[in-house]
Amino acid sequence: MSKIYFDNNATTHCHKEVIDEMSEIYSNCYNYSAMHYYGRKASAIVNLAKSTIKELINAYNYKLIATSCGTEANNLAILGMPKDYKIIVSAIEHPCVYQPALLRKAVFVKVKNNGIVDLSDLEEKVSIVSKEKGNKFLVSIMHANNETGIIQPIKEAARITHKNGGVFHSDMIQSLAKINIDLEDLNVDIATISAHKINGPQGSAALLLRNGIELSPLLIGGGQEENFRSGTLNIAAIVGFAKALDIAVKNLKKYQKLYILRDYMEKNIQQYGNNDVVIFGQKSPRIPNTSYFATNNINSQIQLIEMDLNNICIATGSACSSKSFQISRILHAMGVDEKIANCAVRISFSLMNNVDEVDKFLMIWKNLHSRINKTH
Ligand code: PLP
Repeated sequence: MSKIYFDNNATTHCHKEVIDEMSEIYSNCYNYSAMHYYGRKASAIVNLAKSTIKELINAYNYKLIATSCGTEANNLAILGMPKDYKIIVSAIEHPCVYQPALLRKAVFVKVKNNGIVDLSDLEEKVSIVSKEKGNKFLVSIMHANNETGIIQPIKEAARITHKNGGVFHSDMIQSLAKINIDLEDLNVDIATISAHKINGPQGSAALLLRNGIELSPLLIGGGQEENFRSGTLNIAAIVGFAKALDIAVKNLKKYQKLYILRDYMEKNIQQYGNNDVVIFGQKSPRIPNTSYFATNNINSQIQLIEMDLNNICIATGSACSSKSFQISRILHAMGVDEKIANCAVRISFSLMNNVDEVDKFLMIWKNLHSRINKTH
């Protein structure tokens, strides 16, 4: 039975063209560090892949450090900062920023009820930290949140950071190729991107580092990636990433129309569910593929299981925590009532989805809604 896949913020199908390019690499003995023929060939392949990625996000003045996943890249951005730097992060970061930030005893910036980081709180915290630390601080604010899809004002956050002399990092994993990305224009100093959210391979990501910024490596050894990340480079992974990004950027205009599918679904559930439905961040700017909503009295797990039984894959929160049934930290930070947060599900579309699939989802959801309401 074929599945309807609405969990694209967690991971996506890998494009056939991407797999083909990667297979070609895997069938050769390419080694980026070797001096012989295969080493030279590997260098050319990797340099091309890296410059393709940089060109597509206007990152000419950045080093690209290839990593094994977005988690590693985000860990490197936070834990690799000099020990005397103070870390300031938003309360809604992905766990792979949030947890390292806790280790570094970070300062947390509040988020408003609409899911947008509170810039006046950021301004206040940056000014307190810079009084103590001068320019020795890093601010990390994600570009788009993985649960809500809400786009954060990172250009303004970078301006506040730079005005006080700090370094600005953004986790851009959920915004990459879903909205236009231009690192120079956004003025971020360090950015994290990952391939598997854009139909590239899992286990392929990168940290973009503005030339001149220093980080201590997490992995030490052979000194690969200009000493920022030792370990034999996964050439197929970075090649697959470049190919996936190239395809995604070409499809960006089409992707941006995904909001039509999303809004169609939201309009239908709102009309049917009336006051029972809360759509998080509906009035905030969002990436076009994401909807995060709660249906009063229908627990997230019940919705997920009902959909799964009907061959529809949805999520209850962030991908990495969907197996542990805790209330979303993101909704908590947005001040959402615990009872409502318990009923939240996330739908995240891709270009492979269509209106017939949404109609099937709506039919099952409406059925569940009326069944539960009859029993109340
Ligand atoms: N940051 C965000 C915003 C994400 O959505 C994810 C993946 O869910 C990550 C980081 C982690 O990326 P990876 O799965 O490549 O480790």
